[in-house]
This record gives sequence, structure tokens and C-alpha cells, in this order.
Amino acid sequence: MAKLKYGIIGHPVKHSLSPAMQNAAFHALGIDAEYLLYDVEPEKLEAFLKNAADNNISGLNITIPHKIKAKEFLERKGTLDENARRLGAVNTVKIAEDGSICGYNTDGPGFYRSLIEELKFEPEGKNIFVLGAGGAAHAIVMYLGNSPKRIYVSDIDKAKIDDLRTHYKRWFDGKRLVTVGEDEFKSSLKDAELLINTTPIGMRVTDPSPIDPSLFHYGLYIYDLVYNRPSTEMVKKATSLKLHAVTGTGMLLHQGAIAFEIWTGAKAPVAVMKKALKEALKSQA
Ligand code: NAP
Repeated sequence: MAKLKYGIIGHPVKHSLSPAMQNAAFHALGIDAEYLLYDVEPEKLEAFLKNAADNNISGLNITIPHKIKAKEFLERKGTLDENARRLGAVNTVKIAEDGSICGYNTDGPGFYRSLIEELKFEPEGKNIFVLGAGGAAHAIVMYLGNSPKRIYVSDIDKAKIDDLRTHYKRWFDGKRLVTVGEDEFKSSLKDAELLINTTPIGMRVTDPSPIDPSLFHYGLYIYDLVYNRPSTEMVKKATSLKLHAVTGTGMLLHQGAIAFEIWTGAKAPVAVMKKALKEALKSQA
């Protein structure tokens, strides 16, 4: 049987950490497959997806700028799982032997697994504060849905919060999602049991914590989505205050592990993938 082909489509895709993680997983399970980088320009996305089966591709990850366009293509020419449909974005595609194609989104479930396993935080019935209302915040908020008691959202760009609110209200009880302006910032944060940083602040060595650590209260859990550095100022400050805090490597790992499980039907070798991810991150630093 020919080697199975998988890969990531993006534009650009040079710095993707997925090949290291996925190739290590295939190797560990003795699956004869390779995971490649596909730099696809936006106007060529549709043709690429249409021809994927003919090119013997069995599965794909989709990254910037294609996640929404891929969902639109699959609405017309394939199927979407419930989570991808609700979010309106696809980050994983499975191509069956008969050429049928299905889209998924593993960002929300990946975050959830990491939240439970690494941070040991269960969001059901809790108050959650999400800083930033961009793509990653959408994936998390739309996956958590109605399960938290309240989701506070703050962003420097009010239009982004409005966009998230409108989207959320289409599927869930809109009263649970609360827009936080400057005046409510402190009280909302105080009311939260989990703080999630979905802004890019923390990616650069010189970045401060996106929220003044003097506002962190006892018992607050902190999830910082930044994953390109071993730690961030936010996580360091939180840890020094004896709070539970993690960076986003776990979300990255688990979104990949869930994609692997969708493609292969096998349980992902998470420890192997984690080691490969750590090494790839180190060599990128
Ligand atoms: P994005 O779409 O640009 O969203 C970030 C949002 O945060 C933007 O709306 C931005 O507003 C806002 N923001 C920036 N500074 C802020 C501040 N001080 N206070 C409040 N809001 C602020 O980016 P994204 O794709 O969601 O990614 C965000 C971060 O998450 C990146 O670091 C990315 O690497 C990380 N991420 C991690 C994972 C993982 O697996 N761990 C997955 C996805 C993303 P403006 O646009 O006006 O600046």
C-alpha cells in the first residue's frame, strides 16, 4: 500500500510545529504515513481541497488564512461536524477513501482537554474571563458554550466583542456572555475563577503580563494561550503568587492529538507528540 499523506495547508506555513508532532505520532504507532507542509494561496484553496483525494491525501490541518474558506467549501462539497459548524471555521479535514470529505475544528476540544488535564480546571458552572476576542477566543467560547455560568470578554477592539457576542447569541443564551469595558474590568476579573489570555501579548520576550498581576486574586486559575516561549510574564507572575497557571503548549498538543485521532481512529500517543513538540519549539527559539 502507498504511503498515506497528511499535511497542513496555510499561507505561509513554514514555521508550523505540526509536522514534528504528527510525524512522531505516525512513527510511534508504526503507521506508514508522512505529514507535509502545503503552502496554498487563498485563490487556490478550493482546487487544492477538491483534488486532495486524487493526490492521495487522507487528512489535513487548516491554518491561517484558510479556516473560514475551508468551512464554506465543506458546506457545499462535503460535511461539517457540529463543532466546526457552530464555530464557522475548520482546522482539520478528513478525506475518506471514496473521496468524501469532512471538516472538524479541534481548537476548542484541544483547549478543553488541556484545561482539564493540565490546569485541572473544570469550567462547568464557573465564571470565566476571556481577554481578547479574536480567532482563538471564538474557538474557546463557542466550544464552552452554555457550560460556564458567565463568560466575561474584554478586547481593546469593541467591534470584535460585538462580533463574538452576535455569533454566540445565535447558538447559546446570550445573557451568559458579558462585554467588559474599562469600568467593569476589575470587578469582572474579581468575579472570575479562570482567566484566559487569548491576546498575542506574551509572545515577545519583552512583553509584560497583559493584565497587571496585582489584580490577580487568590484562587484564580490562569490559562495563557501563548505557546512560542517556555513561559510568559503572566504565567511567571501568577506562579510566584502561588496560582495555578499554564501556557498554551497543551492546547496546541491536544488540538493535534485530536486531529490525529480523527484521521487514524487510533488513540494519539500524546507523550510522544509532546516530546516532539517541545523539541520543535526549542529549535525554533
Ligand atoms: P487574533 O485573532 O489577532 O486575536 C487577538 C485579539 O486580542 C485581537 O482582537 C486583539 O485586538 C486583542 N488584543 C490585543 N491586545 C489586547 C489587550 N491588551 N487587551 C485586550 N485585547 C487585546 O489572534 P488569535 O489567532 O486569536 O491568537 C491570539 C493568541 O493565541 C496568539 O498568541 C496565538 O499564538 C495564540 N493561540 C494559541 C493557540 C494554542 O494552541 N495554544 C491556538 C490559537 C492561538 P487587535 O486586533 O485590535 O490588536
